[in-house]
Amino acid sequence: MASVKVAVRVRPMNRREKDLEAKFIIHMEKNKTTITNLKIPEGGTGDTGRERTKTFTYDFSFCSADSESPNYVSQEMVFTNLGTDVLQSAFEGYNACVFAYGQTGSGKSYTMMGDTGDSGLIPRICEGLFSRINETTKWDEASFRTEVSYLEIYNERVRDLLRRKSSKTYNLRVREHPKEGPYVEDLSKHLVQNYSDVEELMDAGNINRTTAATGMNDVSSRSHAIFTINFTQAKFDSEMPCETVSKIHLVDLAGSERADATGATGVRLKEGGNINKSLVTLGNVISALADLSQDAANPLVKKKQVFVPYRDSVLTWLLKDSLGGNSKTIMIATISPADVNYGETLSTLRYANRAK
Ligand code: ADP
Repeated sequence: MASVKVAVRVRPMNRREKDLEAKFIIHMEKNKTTITNLKIPEGGTGDTGRERTKTFTYDFSFCSADSESPNYVSQEMVFTNLGTDVLQSAFEGYNACVFAYGQTGSGKSYTMMGDTGDSGLIPRICEGLFSRINETTKWDEASFRTEVSYLEIYNERVRDLLRRKSSKTYNLRVREHPKEGPYVEDLSKHLVQNYSDVEELMDAGNINRTTAATGMNDVSSRSHAIFTINFTQAKFDSEMPCETVSKIHLVDLAGSERADATGATGVRLKEGGNINKSLVTLGNVISALADLSQDAANPLVKKKQVFVPYRDSVLTWLLKDSLGGNSKTIMIATISPADVNYGETLSTLRYANRAK
């Protein structure tokens, strides 16, 4: 089983793109995604010798732009293809990590959280978790404890999104437990019994999140947020009590657009640098893990020493126990279909391509 799965999802044209009479430049077929550079003439390579189209292969190429496309996926289908694996891993005692990567406005929140009446991966995973807990407790001796925490990383500093009073400051320390690995000191954990408990906490945390205007979008999220479900199963295994703990990290990344594309200066620029540092490191970590799993799959290849640079950013350090090893990692790269976003979309497709 490959430890990293990569999906690309293209959203429909938005109002701004329609107003600009933008052209559609993404084509999907089976698990392939092709992007066309309209500035390069058909059949030609342009002055620079570049090709007009580029094709990438992923685990999934999801189209949400055209309901007639054979690659069309609904929110439910995204869950069936990706979310069910996460649930399965959690029940088997493994950790999982799901994140959406892409430019602001490309559909990260839509994919992770969804819209009213059309929920995304996070609510579906949580609902699935509780319905399975209820099913299992009907038949089994098993008992479960589910706790959640929610934190935000901004400029490489961490704060608790669920602590009511002192949550304004980014002053939590990241420490390392000799056995359990990296953790955030004093991060609050909240016991939950059902999805509506989770929803309440998530809403409270989201209200706390940092948003500020940038040149590109009225409100864009420039921090990374990690919502973690700690899931403990207590069972009797041949009369012996045993406990399995698994974690599901659901990560909302900052927009991937380059600081220079948004006209950022000063503090924003520094912030941009730090946002990119985490995103670049995440890319390096995932790509190193992909190399490792390719080696493992091929017994003829001499084992390389692959260094996984978890420690290079707070984001990857905190996700260490859920990236690699037996963990399930799912990356969804979200893109715009429009020619006006060609540069950003190509850079997202390349980022996702490194993860295979
Ligand atoms: P991001 O979180 O990347 O900034 P959003 O998820 O907020 O972007 O998406 C921007 C807009 O596009 C939202 O209005 C959202 O409803 C819409 N959208 C995004 N992805 C899809 C999709 N797959 N299908 C339909 N609408 C989408």
